[in-house]
Amino acid sequence: MIEIDKVSKWYGDFQVLADCSTQVARGDVVVVCGPSGSGKSTLIKTVNGLEPVQQGAIRVDGITVTDRRTDLPKLRAKIGMVFQNFELFPHLSVRENLTLAQIKVLGRAKGEALERGLRYLDRVGLLAHQDKFPSQLSGGQQQRVAIARALAMDPVAMLFDEPTSALDPEMIGEVLDVMVKLAQEGMTMMVVTHEMGFARKVADRIVFMDHGRIVEDTPTEAFFSAPRSERAREFLAKII
Ligand code: ATP
Ligand code: MG
Repeated sequence: MIEIDKVSKWYGDFQVLADCSTQVARGDVVVVCGPSGSGKSTLIKTVNGLEPVQQGAIRVDGITVTDRRTDLPKLRAKIGMVFQNFELFPHLSVRENLTLAQIKVLGRAKGEALERGLRYLDRVGLLAHQDKFPSQLSGGQQQRVAIARALAMDPVAMLFDEPTSALDPEMIGEVLDVMVKLAQEGMTMMVVTHEMGFARKVADRIVFMDHGRIVEDTPTEAFFSAPRSERAREFLAKII
């Protein structure tokens, strides 16, 4: 579903991604972890073309993201992305946040968009909050609305970049619960996170990055029981 093939990227002289290759099969969950500055956010953003690359190829659902002729806005409509900082439109209500892209990008009728939006809002447990504005919701609630909004677009895959790292501890669980459910329902997911409990529970593989390289790409149990690289062992020792 997602193929990253020998991708390299530079900012000027600085190489932020070095010959990165990995795949996420349909229905699989891959967790990307590694030290700060190792290139995790950059890598995940290359998948929907938010970060262009100088070398290598990326394909999602058979579409080559790195082909200049690819219609990136159209591709992005098929890939859900949830970031660390809840990027809801602050001046729009929850209902409007849920429906805007469905109407503007997918051309859905307002009624249909609302019906779908509210179905996903219900799935993240927030139906009662549909008339509120983002500022009237907790961080965890905003993040769940952001997930519902992405799901209402019928994405072929979901990308998450540290979706819980800006949340107060008591709200992390409610967002992870939604993500676990999504994973168990078979969504294809690439998730940058340091939540190793989540990773152990639902990830099929762990990608460990260091200095722009994919140092390990290992089945989850093997990663936790016997990480191959010294860097991954140090990393795990620090965060678990
Ligand atoms: P964190 O865990 O802190 O989120 P990360 O693994 O997501 O880190 P990236 O945000 O992908 O790391 O950044 C990787 C490296 O690229 C960092 O050294 C960062 O300073 C550098 N970098 C990121 N964006 C730019 C940019 N626009 N111009 C120059 N360097 C950049
Ligand atoms: Mg990051």
